[in-house]
Amino acid sequence: MNQKLFLWLGSITLLLLQACGEIGNHKDNIQEVRTVDTTQSDTTQQVAKNTPPVIGDMKKHNGEVAACVTKYRQSPINVTTPGEKKEHSLKFKYVSSHEVVENLGHTVELLYDKGSEVAFDGKTYRLVQFHFHTPSEHKINADEFPMEVHMVHRGADSTYLVVALLFQQGEENAFLKTFIPDIPKQIGDTTESKKELNLTNLFPKDERFYTYSGSLTTPPYTEGVRWIIFRQPVTCSKEQIAVFKKIEGFNARNLQPMNLRRIEEF
Ligand SMILES: [Zn+2]
Repeated sequence: MNQKLFLWLGSITLLLLQACGEIGNHKDNIQEVRTVDTTQSDTTQQVAKNTPPVIGDMKKHNGEVAACVTKYRQSPINVTTPGEKKEHSLKFKYVSSHEVVENLGHTVELLYDKGSEVAFDGKTYRLVQFHFHTPSEHKINADEFPMEVHMVHRGADSTYLVVALLFQQGEENAFLKTFIPDIPKQIGDTTESKKELNLTNLFPKDERFYTYSGSLTTPPYTEGVRWIIFRQPVTCSKEQIAVFKKIEGFNARNLQPMNLRRIEEF
């Protein structure tokens, strides 16, 4: 009995407190409108300020919060070795493509004809384009490389797989040599020729790689990207690096935290 009375009294107190709160808020609103009346001739601005956010805004805000919370698997990273040894299957089916070179200012990009793909652990991704970063975006045990190429592949479900090769300075690279003279001088220009390219010619002899789950390294930094980084760097000359550097400048994103991810090596 006493307990019931106690609960009833508690409820009444709570209701009174809530009512006070409402009145208090209402008072604040009145004061604010009054202030506006004396200082501004146009009250519409203030009315808009007092209007609660519309649902669209709330959704946008929640979306932004969600995006911040979920962005913890970003790229590039510092690859620390040795990684966890794991069996993977990586099969390339690359065919030649006619040459389309774009000078995008922030990068040099080459489009690839349909028909080339890679299968990773049984899932197929189509090769769409490849582009360059100066210096490398990924580091291996904190070592930076002068250049990195990203071969961007897309799955039927719109997920990405990016194959990365690191460049070290040395002998001239025969593959780069075929298209360097065709890189447009003007930003935004594209060169399209009948010349054929086959990316297979760029790969190192050693087929071993590191792999991890990350993101695109440019906006919108989409996650769920499967990264394949070949362990053996490929070689190119100092002059060839200079060609890309002159166009792109510094176009490497900062290193991102590993968080709970692990590097796997194959
Ligand atoms: Zn890239």
